[in-house]
Amino acid sequence: MQDSLPSDVGNFHYGTGHPMKPHRLSVIHSLVLNYGLHKHMQIYRPYKASAHDMCRFLQRVTPQNIQAFTKHLSHFNVGDDCPVFHGLFDFCSMYTGASLEGAMKLNNNDCDIAINWSGGLHHAKKFEASGFCYVNDIVIGILELLKHHPRVLYIDIDVHHGDGVQEAFYLTDRVMTVSFHKYGNYFFPGTGDMYEIGAESGRYYSVNVPLKEGIDDQSYWMVFKPVISNVMEFYQPSAIVLQCGADSLANDRLGCFSLSTKGHGECVKFVKSLNVPTLVVGGGGYTLRNVARCWTYETSLLVDEHISDELPFTEYLEFFAPDFTLHPEVVTRSENANSRQYLEFITKFVYDNLKMCQHSPSVQMNDVPGDAFLKDEKVKEEEDPDVRISQELEDKMIEPKNEFFDGEKDQDKDEAMEN
Ligand SMILES: [Zn+2]
Repeated sequence: MQDSLPSDVGNFHYGTGHPMKPHRLSVIHSLVLNYGLHKHMQIYRPYKASAHDMCRFLQRVTPQNIQAFTKHLSHFNVGDDCPVFHGLFDFCSMYTGASLEGAMKLNNNDCDIAINWSGGLHHAKKFEASGFCYVNDIVIGILELLKHHPRVLYIDIDVHHGDGVQEAFYLTDRVMTVSFHKYGNYFFPGTGDMYEIGAESGRYYSVNVPLKEGIDDQSYWMVFKPVISNVMEFYQPSAIVLQCGADSLANDRLGCFSLSTKGHGECVKFVKSLNVPTLVVGGGGYTLRNVARCWTYETSLLVDEHISDELPFTEYLEFFAPDFTLHPEVVTRSENANSRQYLEFITKFVYDNLKMCQHSPSVQMNDVPGDAFLKDEKVKEEEDPDVRISQELEDKMIEPKNEFFDGEKDQDKDEAMEN
């Protein structure tokens, strides 16, 4: 049976009971549109990454032929946490292509902030899927940024350690990775101790802030602000990638922190205030309604628009019962296990290490490789002879008649045509 693949990244399904729900992306998209935030930015249907951009294995394996790949599955760590689901390759193409295109737009100065909430899959390794991540779109995005930027800073506020990104750039000073995460008691993925600082040319360019469970807004801010301020002073990056994993919010299905959406958003606001070209990506987040609240709120911060605490009507409104608000009161499950002394100790440790790294290393950039793809390639990828109307054409047809219109002025199309 040949059934069609979802055309939207929010329609993929990891399987029954799996905590990762791509559907959260449809909910966020709907909230962003219904709050009118799309009027303050440009929205693109992104490039779909090819097997060449990512990994050929993922192009070949499907739920139907999985038996033939038994040996490869364990090699690439595909299985329980990272199941092979219908449309897996397309899912990876979409979230990876979007980060890649975001990086290209920053490189070409087409924008100063690019947002891809479907990306941020920070656990994937070069030859290994891990922690619900198959392809590390962040690493691919950073590699693209490095074609134009001497130093890229990666900041990760997911509750889990950003191990895949750290590993990819552990030996280089061209990328500084900074991860704030829960560490200890075998919490996934088990890495991210403060003593992991990088090696060889990359020594002192991996920064880890291991935290204990139950951290609240105030405590998080106590480490986040000084650490990032010091990093900026010492490293002076020319581009930033911010991973906004929302599993660091209170009451996440898998996380154990106690951040509110406002506390989480404070980090995004702070990074934005640094005025450096930034690629913003999603990441973890397993209590769907809170992920949607968080990334919608953060979209509003990134476009400088105040949005009401009362959620607009969407087809998903029932998800947000009983309060139907953007910032419900945070009721936490666990005590904050991070003492002031502990937080001050890590901040000092990070500061002492930063002092060791040479001030903002420079690079000679000869033979810069070309962009990952040409603008024309993007359109070609979308065309499918079996589909009567191409996706590109459909997007153009939908836009004029729906929510992309802004107020009465846009209704007088006839007048505009006469002139
Ligand atoms: Zn996570």
